[in-house]
Amino acid sequence: MIELVLGTVIGGTISWVVTHIYYQKSSNEIPDWAKQLVEKLPQSKPSEAELLELFQQALNTGEIVPDPLLGHVACPDCKAPASDFKDKSFGDEYHTIIVKSCPHCGWNDHAEL
Ligand SMILES: [Zn+2]
Repeated sequence: MIELVLGTVIGGTISWVVTHIYYQKSSNEIPDWAKQLVEKLPQSKPSEAELLELFQQALNTGEIVPDPLLGHVACPDCKAPASDFKDKSFGDEYHTIIVKSCPHCGWNDHAEL
């Protein structure tokens, strides 16, 4: 399950980064953490391995911080940063359920602690 989630997140992030590089290179909407990635990328189309390496470097340096509960770095639907997610918790003395939701598109997911 976690591999699937990470694969989806990484895949989505890569396609998002590639989209920004090739179609919106001059956009001011690129987040600070991605600007550094975009500047490091070669002029030719980067391989998936190169993108993964850059992504891992950004994780190592803390430029990208995955959501600690779900592991997402961005909303799976609208790609808003995970730092925008809203938390709600429910439960009793035995169970706690945390619901994470995206305020931009309404996407949500939950985990039980
Ligand atoms: Zn969203």
